[in-house]
Amino acid sequence: MKNLKPTKNLQINHDRLEKRLRDLAKIGQIEETGVCRLTLSKEDKEAVLQVEQWMKEAGLTTRIDSFGNLIGQWKGGDDTEPILLVGSHIDSQPYGGQFDGTIGVIGAIEAIQTMREQGFQPEKTIEVIAFSDEEGCRFDKGLFGSRGIIGQLEEGELDREDVDGITRRQALLDFGCNLEEMEQDVYPEGRIGSFLEMHIEQGPILDRLNQPVGLVTGISGPLWLTVELKGFAGHAGSVPMSYRQDALVATAEIITKLRELATEDPNAPTVATVGKIEAFPNSRNIIPENVRFTIDLRDIDMDRRRRIEKKLFEAIDEICERHQVTKTIRVDTESDARYCATEIMDDIRAAGKALFTEPLPEMMSGPFHDALAMSSICDYGMIFVRCKDGISHNPKESARYDDISLGTELLYRTMLLRSGAKKE
Ligand SMILES: [Zn+2]
Repeated sequence: MKNLKPTKNLQINHDRLEKRLRDLAKIGQIEETGVCRLTLSKEDKEAVLQVEQWMKEAGLTTRIDSFGNLIGQWKGGDDTEPILLVGSHIDSQPYGGQFDGTIGVIGAIEAIQTMREQGFQPEKTIEVIAFSDEEGCRFDKGLFGSRGIIGQLEEGELDREDVDGITRRQALLDFGCNLEEMEQDVYPEGRIGSFLEMHIEQGPILDRLNQPVGLVTGISGPLWLTVELKGFAGHAGSVPMSYRQDALVATAEIITKLRELATEDPNAPTVATVGKIEAFPNSRNIIPENVRFTIDLRDIDMDRRRRIEKKLFEAIDEICERHQVTKTIRVDTESDARYCATEIMDDIRAAGKALFTEPLPEMMSGPFHDALAMSSICDYGMIFVRCKDGISHNPKESARYDDISLGTELLYRTMLLRSGAKKE
């Protein structure tokens, strides 16, 4: 695949975009290049107020809703049409990077400002959103703002506490939110027509392909399991190998089998991980009796994922039987893949075709994004921007401003198509 390059001058303002991203990265800065901007924190509030200022400079009418989302609106020629929502998040992990989420918000504001400067007026109302608490690290549950506006918060969510015992309710109140308004801040059914999100890839594919931007085709469906194996402890020096019921050896075989299943088709984007493992009694000279470990299996093709699941469960049965260990398997999360809307992908492809020498590379997203929540109520599309070595959720996360500009130009051109914008 040839490296795609722009065939025209960009209309978006590269310098303004870069300056805003650099300024935003100073709020909650850690180390040279990282940020810590936990949701609803003092730093988050400062960032929200700064971004609100930029929304105003772009001519948007702003508000902060009862979930802590920052929203800027540009009324279209026909406000009765379903709106185009564009954005991402500006909260971060405690040890996070400066591009995760932020480029999707600052990029959307830049696109709006460019539309105005170029004399466009949208037919559909456009709203730019910086979602509250995408990351989920402070209250251990994310996508809060996006689930909030679509009426999908769960029972008891406001009572969740952070490490200091502060509830989400209190944090929202301290942030200045009026909790009485939550019901009216849920968008009526059908009000949001489509959602667009630009995000750094958070994976290495674009970097390996040496491509600045890509089109996302869907967000893969994760299956999260917790597996517990129970064998029998014994003296490491005396129990002969053939007598053993070693839960850790069985686990090791399952891990290797999982990898084998996930790589059966080397061209498939299937990924599988055992990321956490606890052995008991965890002693040098005792045969491990209990092992608990997690499995994270993701794929964009649900049929393929289910085939792998079936083979995995069969393999676990066989391995446990052979090692004479018993098992319990708990399903923690099971989500289907969410595909991007064909119509929106076609618009992004068309915008890409007008802008670049080559067609856009296409890929799925392994990580979740706010778009995952939005996908349950409207069509959505996503643009990925290359990040260096695929590193994210780390202060070392890095993206080139030139790539972000290309992504933003692509977003801008897609927004023109999606909003029915015309020159005045
Ligand atoms: Zn993100």
